[in-house]
Amino acid sequence: MFDIDAVRAQFPILSRQVNGKPLIYLDNGASAQKPQAVLDTMMRAYSEEYSNVHRGLHTLSTISTENYEAVRGKVARFLGAPAEDQIVFTTGTTEAINLVSYAWAAPRLEAGDEIVLSVMEHHANIVPWHFLRERLGVKLVWVETDVMGALDPQAVLDAVTDRTKLIAVTHLSNVLGTVVDVKAICDGAGARGVPVLIDGSQGAVHLPVDVADIGCDFYAVTGHKLYGPSGSGAIFIRPERMAEMRPFMGGGDMIREVHRDSVTWNDPPMKFEAGTPAIVAIIGFGAALDWMMDLGMERIAEHEERLRDYARDRFAGLNWLHMQGQTPEKAAIFSFTLEGAAHAHDISTVLDKKGVAVRAGHHCAQPLMEHLGVTATCRASFGVYNTEAEVDVLIDALELCHDLFS
Ligand code: PLP
Repeated sequence: MFDIDAVRAQFPILSRQVNGKPLIYLDNGASAQKPQAVLDTMMRAYSEEYSNVHRGLHTLSTISTENYEAVRGKVARFLGAPAEDQIVFTTGTTEAINLVSYAWAAPRLEAGDEIVLSVMEHHANIVPWHFLRERLGVKLVWVETDVMGALDPQAVLDAVTDRTKLIAVTHLSNVLGTVVDVKAICDGAGARGVPVLIDGSQGAVHLPVDVADIGCDFYAVTGHKLYGPSGSGAIFIRPERMAEMRPFMGGGDMIREVHRDSVTWNDPPMKFEAGTPAIVAIIGFGAALDWMMDLGMERIAEHEERLRDYARDRFAGLNWLHMQGQTPEKAAIFSFTLEGAAHAHDISTVLDKKGVAVRAGHHCAQPLMEHLGVTATCRASFGVYNTEAEVDVLIDALELCHDLFS
């Protein structure tokens, strides 16, 4: 059983008020709040155990290095990766996808080669590929979602040609909540010899992930959405792909030897981690993953499914609200507009007055906004600590918006 009160009690920020009302935090898609276990771990790492990593032989450096390196195994376990040396630390998904673009794709792709993307990608999984379009003449091939906001895996595979060098898709849309059948995409892509990168920024937050079962080549996650600190993240990279990658950032730690006329590289994954990393952020990220694994991804997913169903029923009663993305298996992420002139920003401002935090705007997904024919939506994105009572407050606040703006 999921003891929601016990879960909520672990997030200090949830007891604060906003505009004189209890905080109802429904902006988890942008960034999640942090449990006490993460805050305590980071405080201890700074106040009792801090030093640089991989550098010194003194006691603090050894402790810091051990705590930092232990996180690689935690990420591997969390993602179902067969080995921890298949995990590269990054500052988040944005850096992870840029790493793949610079270190794997740029040296291999040529003018006319193709990258298949879905129209609902976040800019983090679009712009690094635009760099290759601009610099190398690579072609971006877009796959549409259907009217419900679903992405048909077969449509993705149908977009593959003999020039396709990569499929890059999200596991779960940050705007629509759509869950993508990435395993079906990887099965079909594997049969055609096309690598697949999965943007797991949202997927890993809401679904149990097993990269070995999915069969992907790259799976990127970001720590701050996984109840960990900002500036932390990681990417699983299949060993065959890792072996094909050239270093991207140069500096300390990623080298074996540096001479006046030559340089040799450290072994992967260190080869792709230059300079002093975000030591304490990564250690905090590890604490967040421990916290999620202790709670259990299956139980987190069940709780969020109940919330999704409850919210969906309540939204269905608002006939002046237009919901984007109606796939049955979606996550508890709801993007909507209201009938009439109210802009998403106005709605968000009214909700804030009621203590309800939602995101308004294009959600870093402008190609999707164009596809939907809107410039902005309001997004309520739920997390592990949200409750059905909070859904009720959101609905009441939306009814107030409707009264104000219609
Ligand atoms: N991809 C998706 C689907 C996201 O939702 C986000 C963040 O909103 C990102 C990528 C980028 O993550 P970050 O900015 O943490 O690197």
